[in-house]
Amino acid sequence: TSRAIAYCRPGFEKDLAAEFAARCAKSGVAGHSLATPDSGFVLHEFDAPLEEAQRVVSYDHLIFARQLVWVRESLEDLPEKDRLTPILAAINRVHGRFGRVWAETADTNEAKTLSSFLKRFMPHLERALHEGRRLVDRNDAPNLHLFFIDSSHVFICTSDPANASPWPMGIARLRMPREAPSRSTLKLAEAFFGLLSEDERNSSLRAGLRAVDLGAAPGGWTWQFVSRGLLVTAVDNGPMSESVRATGLVEHVRADGFVWKPSKPVEWMVCDMVEQPSRVAQLVAEWVASGRCRRSMFNLKLPMKKRHDAIEQARNLIYKRMSVSGRDWTLRFKHLYHDREEVTGYLASIKHG
Ligand code: SAM
Repeated sequence: TSRAIAYCRPGFEKDLAAEFAARCAKSGVAGHSLATPDSGFVLHEFDAPLEEAQRVVSYDHLIFARQLVWVRESLEDLPEKDRLTPILAAINRVHGRFGRVWAETADTNEAKTLSSFLKRFMPHLERALHEGRRLVDRNDAPNLHLFFIDSSHVFICTSDPANASPWPMGIARLRMPREAPSRSTLKLAEAFFGLLSEDERNSSLRAGLRAVDLGAAPGGWTWQFVSRGLLVTAVDNGPMSESVRATGLVEHVRADGFVWKPSKPVEWMVCDMVEQPSRVAQLVAEWVASGRCRRSMFNLKLPMKKRHDAIEQARNLIYKRMSVSGRDWTLRFKHLYHDREEVTGYLASIKHG
């Protein structure tokens, strides 16, 4: 057997466990999840060795996972007087060198009470790892995660940086830009990092390209584009903030976002309208399939229950429309740190050659 731990927003453990189950069913690998409500993580045990389990699930597959790590050692009943010695011994049973080491907990108030203990403990551990030459200055070296359940119980885990969140605890720490008109600007900022590759960011977020923002007011998402020099058509019956309009890069159109169309193709269409997921999915698919836009970032506001079903329904609607478009395309979903009862989607057509 082998075990993985995925971190999530507290309250989404069942959705995450359902994703593990779906991946395993698809690959014919048995196993089961420990998914305590509001714990902020899911522990999944696979009836398969590590290498096989790692082919079954990856970080990108799991929409509700903020991070995905693989359990290498588990220590319970750590002695209060000296936790360092047994933890180091356990790390020494894991081969290889690590690019970075993170002490982590679930994102719950209870778990966060450990943070002062971790602040005291970690410098000692890091020094010992340096002295033992277990750390190496390489971006592609594995991450070492110490996932603490409490101060006496820790899982020693690893992850592959190519297949993991780059943020400790999977939490995107982004600074709120001073000029941005709303906090939801952080959602799109995080989406650009969490759902796009570096190449995709570089080629699609260039000055002079055009973007359409459906449901744009007061302008947090629009701000993400204009701050990078893109030209934005902001569609909303509500008012756009002065800071965004003052850039001179925004045209504000008071219209229904489900009806309005651009006169020529644009690079981006983004959509943060509070609407049924199926309606948003159909709108986004229509824009990309018809070539009105090349790519789209959108939010699906999820019902409290049946979140998994709502996403699958949206995925099917997009699949149906895109498969008759004659285009190659990609679709990704992630429950971002800045998303609450919603997930962020990315749909793009891919150019040949
Ligand atoms: N992304 C925005 C930001 O960062 O500031 C916040 C968008 S807010 C969550 C949703 C917006 O969608 C509201 O301003 C609302 O007026 C707009 N909206 C809802 N239905 C719409 C429709 N059918 N057409 C255009 N705008 C719509």
